[in-house]
Amino acid sequence: MTITSKETVVLKNFIDGNWVQTNGVEYLDVINPATKACLAKVPISTKEDVEAAVRAAKTSFKTWRSTPVPKRARILYAYHHLLAKHHDELAKLIVQENGKAYKEAHGEVQRGLECVEFAAGAPTLMMGESLSNIAEEIDSSMYRYPLGVVGGITPFNFPMMVPLWMFPLAIACGNTFVLKPSERTPLLANRLVELFIEAGAPNGVLNIVHGAHDVVNGLLNHKDVKAISFVGSQPVAKHVYETAAKNGKRVQALSGAKNHHVVMPDANIEKAAQHVLTSAFGSAGQRCMACSAVVVVDDDKNQFIDELKKKANELTIGNGMEEEVLLTPVIRENHREKVLGYIKQGISEGASLVRDGRKEMDELKEGYFLGPTIFDHVTPEMTIAKEEIFAPVLSVLRAKDLDEALEHIEKSRYGNGATIYTKDAKAIRQFREEADAGMIGVNVGVPATMAFFPFSGWKDSFYGDLHVNGKDGVNFFTKKKVITSRFDF
Ligand code: NAD
Repeated sequence: MTITSKETVVLKNFIDGNWVQTNGVEYLDVINPATKACLAKVPISTKEDVEAAVRAAKTSFKTWRSTPVPKRARILYAYHHLLAKHHDELAKLIVQENGKAYKEAHGEVQRGLECVEFAAGAPTLMMGESLSNIAEEIDSSMYRYPLGVVGGITPFNFPMMVPLWMFPLAIACGNTFVLKPSERTPLLANRLVELFIEAGAPNGVLNIVHGAHDVVNGLLNHKDVKAISFVGSQPVAKHVYETAAKNGKRVQALSGAKNHHVVMPDANIEKAAQHVLTSAFGSAGQRCMACSAVVVVDDDKNQFIDELKKKANELTIGNGMEEEVLLTPVIRENHREKVLGYIKQGISEGASLVRDGRKEMDELKEGYFLGPTIFDHVTPEMTIAKEEIFAPVLSVLRAKDLDEALEHIEKSRYGNGATIYTKDAKAIRQFREEADAGMIGVNVGVPATMAFFPFSGWKDSFYGDLHVNGKDGVNFFTKKKVITSRFDF
């Protein structure tokens, strides 16, 4: 599906196997950020819509929970096949509604496919444990069971990968699901549901309710929703975590980030600058694993910053469907306005603006573009060093040695990812042991974990205990029961 029609597409919710209109009256435009064209209208659904979706999910749970695990897994295999068949179409849809470059979108589809591959291993993943002879003639065994109805709330920046972090594994484990996708990127979510139904999912197992905070709060406060998986910005993640926990739900809330990359004096400057550039400016810096602060160690001659500026001046900005484009638009005009405020604040707080991306705004008026923006001599106390800007704005901090660079990282309230560029084994080990973040890169620009490892942010980048993906994901979506049996009775 690629949106080409002149007629406005009006999106519907998907409840109990049917596409249904919202009970509400409000709709939002879904905008292509590279052209400002309206792609569709998304409903801002109501609590009544949530009620209907949860009811359907609760009813289907009665049969889905006891559907044999291999049978559930077979639907995931079929789903994988369909997603792979539509790889190009899905990538193009991501470009249209999110704005990122086609190559990035293609990679995102691949990351999503890997989540489905992982979930298809449910028969192995859900296995319990047993031990005979825990006492005379007594054995114990542990089984895993699904929780019930699970709610998933997702952000705009990975419209394919993030929903696929959630519902394939939850459903493979026997839960039923209500998805609330980002209202800014809802098209891909509908396509994911269509293909899931084509793969053979029974009615009510996966439901979708479009909208904004009313839908989120409806899920958080619903007594029949047993767990909430959330990915989004920090204030909302905290609200989701606290409200869901207060209501007795299991919750994982993945939040904002400020990822530091440390460039050591022995690093290959050309390669390190290329990695930082792609990490900071790819997807317009709108990745929770983007490099948003680079700490340059002992670089009095400005070798790294000069190379970075040179590369930033050469990079291609434009519509994600064009070849060789790296820097694409930010998601909306109001987001760009907020970012411009941060740029002004960086200047007023004394950082040196060594590359000003505002000039490209005038050259590329058709979308929400902002050129690569680099501040040098940023200190950890400045606002631009502390807050997640989520845009192509990079802060460069200076450090005399690795210890000082690690202190800069520790001062950040966020702890999603951190990367070091070096060949020095001792520095790599120290960084691995001491960097205050949950996902570490060694000469890797975007150290996002694959589906079989937990996506493991720390500090204010994550609220909860069990992360998404990997064994954490299986533990999150299942509860355990231990049976103790005596045989000499
Ligand atoms: P967002 O917080 O604006 O929205 C996320 C979801 O929450 C959306 O579905 C939205 O409708 C809903 N929402 C927004 N405001 C709400 C409110 N007041 N009450 C209830 N629900 C609300 O986030 P976004 O802008 O779509 O996504 C970008 C953010 O997500 C960034 O902060 C990024 O770091 C974060 N993110 C984190 C990870 C991670 O793994 N830690 C991954 C991807 C994105």
